[in-house]
Amino acid sequence: MRVFICADMEGVAGVVSRRQTDDYDSPDYARACVLFQEDALCAVTAAFTAGAEEVVVADSHGPATNLDPAAFPAKVRLVQGWPRPLNMMQGIDAGSYHGAVLLGHHAAITSIDGGFPHSFSSSRYAAVLINGAPVSEGQVNAWLAGHYNVPIVAATGDDVCMAALEALLPGLPVAVTKTSHGMYSATQLSRDAALARIDAAVRAGLERAAESPTLRLEGPVELELRLRNRYAAELISYLPGFERRAAYAVAIEVSDIIEAVRVIGALVHIDVDCF
Ligand SMILES: [Zn+2]
Repeated sequence: MRVFICADMEGVAGVVSRRQTDDYDSPDYARACVLFQEDALCAVTAAFTAGAEEVVVADSHGPATNLDPAAFPAKVRLVQGWPRPLNMMQGIDAGSYHGAVLLGHHAAITSIDGGFPHSFSSSRYAAVLINGAPVSEGQVNAWLAGHYNVPIVAATGDDVCMAALEALLPGLPVAVTKTSHGMYSATQLSRDAALARIDAAVRAGLERAAESPTLRLEGPVELELRLRNRYAAELISYLPGFERRAAYAVAIEVSDIIEAVRVIGALVHIDVDCF
């Protein structure tokens, strides 16, 4: 059995402020990395307990070098760094995964009440829409897994993000790591209680992986990007295939979710905010 874990930091138990997630020179970030490592290691250990022979973890937050390869067991492969074509799900195309876990996920930028609401980049995108509807990273990541016939078997994050993923993937085992009071406030669990929930959700999910939902998105896919920066919207609209939909919005039709994710990722990393 092989298991894929897409690991983000904003939904990690104990993480609540942007100093923890974005201020890379601060002791708050260093502490958040410890919590992130513990949540990830807990999910990895649960996967091995459930019978996994190999686990691939995609470090998918911020610099994507938050996790320490030395802290994982030998049969873990760690994907790190940007850019990468499959974005947060790099490695999911390697095939034959029993299931994928969405660890430490957070609400979409369009969520009113979830913690750390953003979709792929809080500085680049005011919204990411697929086929006319705003999407979260978790939804896109579930489609990416589904493209490779991998079911989502479990998810972890705050109550708002977990409710959204349960609505999308009925019956999904989730670990609610904290109760959100808005963008940067949540009621935390004790460390042991949070880790127990993660362990239980991952083990339950892998035990019932055969019945787990595989989310698929048939092509073609219409991708609309609502940008923070008008100059970026203008420049991107010059690229073949893009349509300027509004002052701050561009759209393009692509053949599948893979192409959509490549576009989303490329436009996060290309520096078009220089004026
Ligand atoms: Zn993140």
